[in-house]
Amino acid sequence: MSLQLESVTVTVPDGRERLTILNDVSLSVEPGEVVALVGPSGSGKSTVVAVAALLLRPDSGTVTVAGIDAGNASARQRTTIRRDHIGVVYQSANLVPSLTALEQVELVAHIDGHLDRKARARAEELLAGVGLGDRLDSRPGELSGGERQRVGIARALMNSPEVLLADEPTAALDADRGAMVMDLLVEQATNAGASTLIVTHVPDQVRADRQITLDHARIIERTTTVVA
Ligand code: ADP
Ligand code: MG
Repeated sequence: MSLQLESVTVTVPDGRERLTILNDVSLSVEPGEVVALVGPSGSGKSTVVAVAALLLRPDSGTVTVAGIDAGNASARQRTTIRRDHIGVVYQSANLVPSLTALEQVELVAHIDGHLDRKARARAEELLAGVGLGDRLDSRPGELSGGERQRVGIARALMNSPEVLLADEPTAALDADRGAMVMDLLVEQATNAGASTLIVTHVPDQVRADRQITLDHARIIERTTTVVA
């Protein structure tokens, strides 16, 4: 099991009380599996992603990433686990305006401390995989929204993550482009064998193996298979 949340509860201060924004949430995603996380706005979806990405430490419960119990890890250890084992695709691609598509993806290897010819070849291969093999030298300003998101997908896969997280990755795209980007994401994630959790407001768009529904901080429904 590459990603496992067990009885995760998250609260935030709310005046003199605390507001529960995740209430006893348990989920796991197997290697090669794609799970869609759906639910109304404010139900806690992004909080699940933040906990799984080790950006937010839950009040209670356990988080296991790539077999590592991350619950008790220090901030520095969590950063290392994230760098080595987790890829994240954001709602908008969050690219660096001054860098080319190739440089955005290579940057992951820079941070890792080993940018070499192999890393460049991998970045090129990933960009070709998302259909941008001929746009390596384009900067974000020269790319469409869908193309920028595809760079974001390639970047998220650069560290060969066991766990791939995406928070409404097609929210900024029109329906047709969104469907294309989502297909690419699922295809690349499956090829990579990653445990993939995709938050979406358009569940029909995701060819997921399973679907989990959140409402008011709790999981209210789980499907075993999704036919999309
Ligand atoms: P979703 O992604 O499903 O829209 P979120 O996970 O972003 O939901 O948020 C769940 C709920 O928790 C919302 O009501 C939101 O306002 C609240 N919330 C999230 N983060 C914080 C925070 N840091 N402080 C206070 N409230 C928060
Ligand atoms: Mg959200």
